[in-house]
Amino acid sequence: MTTEPPTSNLHHLRRNQHAYDDLSICVVCQHLLANGEYNDGTTAAETAATGMLKLWGNNALLLIPDGTDLGYRTTTCESCGNTDHGDRYRAALFTPRRKS
Ligand SMILES: [Zn+2]
Repeated sequence: MTTEPPTSNLHHLRRNQHAYDDLSICVVCQHLLANGEYNDGTTAAETAATGMLKLWGNNALLLIPDGTDLGYRTTTCESCGNTDHGDRYRAALFTPRRKS
């Protein structure tokens, strides 16, 4: 049996995770999750929302920003998948454990 890297956060979540408490998310996602909107005159908010659903499916509704500023990072946003470098903020996601 081979172990392949997860193709998305959702795939990884379904496999073996019930909790992520150290996600690094972009400023657009931070605003969307904290305030429900992000208006900069571009389609950034729509692009981020689409990315969230692609990566997390319905579990995107469980993403919780905690407001911690992680500073400038070059890593991919773990909420929407945006690869642009920029400020990152911390977020968490928890799903209920179920009997298998
Ligand atoms: Zn994002």
